[in-house]
Amino acid sequence: MTQTEPGILYLVATPIGNLRDFTFRAVEVLQRVDLIACEDTRHSRPLLDHYGISKPTAAFHEHNEDAASSRLIERLRQGESIALISDAGTPLINDPGFPLVRSARAAGIQVVPVPGPCALIAAVSASGLPADRFAFEGFLPRKSSARKASLEALRDDSRTLIFYESSHRVVECVADIAAVFPSKRRLVIARELTKLFETIVDTRVGEALLLLEGNPDMRKGEFVLVLEGAADGGQAEGLTVEEMRVLRILLEECSVKTAVSLAVKITGARRETVYRTALRLTERRRETD
Ligand code: SAM
Repeated sequence: MTQTEPGILYLVATPIGNLRDFTFRAVEVLQRVDLIACEDTRHSRPLLDHYGISKPTAAFHEHNEDAASSRLIERLRQGESIALISDAGTPLINDPGFPLVRSARAAGIQVVPVPGPCALIAAVSASGLPADRFAFEGFLPRKSSARKASLEALRDDSRTLIFYESSHRVVECVADIAAVFPSKRRLVIARELTKLFETIVDTRVGEALLLLEGNPDMRKGEFVLVLEGAADGGQAEGLTVEEMRVLRILLEECSVKTAVSLAVKITGARRETVYRTALRLTERRRETD
């Protein structure tokens, strides 16, 4: 009995707005595979038609991901080649596909990325903020309290921070960013990338809300928020992010002397480092108040 060679799973990036942002290789791969698994077959049909791709499609979305993954793995095992595409951009980047890729790799099936558009990469590369180290946080939680807690945990992170947001929540999200981060931090609002009304605005945390509230067009479409990292993250001072967090909380409640002494006891960090950081933080707070 001959053993069938397993097929290949391709992860194919599709345009995030501009239909011409489709690579030659992406088109070739989609024309060659046996099946195209789509986040939404109806959504992808115009794109596939535009490029003369008439391969069979199957639905693959967050609601059927587990069952659909098993079916696709079986077909891959039988030797079929399958391409996964999402509605826009790179599959798995805040889109379905993770269980499928994990299972495929575990089953020894070759997974081949066909890279292309991705909103976060487009936004950070054009933002004018450092793109050598960044943290992509995807969508923040929907509830304001949870969202603020997530943001708090990132306040001392020195990496550029990147968030996805929809028009429904962009105002609330920017309001929470303003409540948590220093007003002078740069915030780049990138909307409708690669589309007709593409806008990339460089603003400050303290001014962003006014900008959105003052212009209804600025609240429409799809958004990537790119936030400057902390210039003086805890690590630069010799404190970890957690030690910085403890110190900040204590400084809000006690005198510098007490905060330093408690922070040293709680975290075990060096007194001198904690004291120097505490002085700088209180100085900066006075300047911004
Ligand atoms: N897989 C996609 C990627 O590679 O970027 C992301 C999919 S995620 C479900 C959709 C979110 O990506 C949108 O809500 C928005 O935050 C961001 N996004 C997608 N296309 C965009 C565009 N053209 N301009 C700005 N943001 C975009």
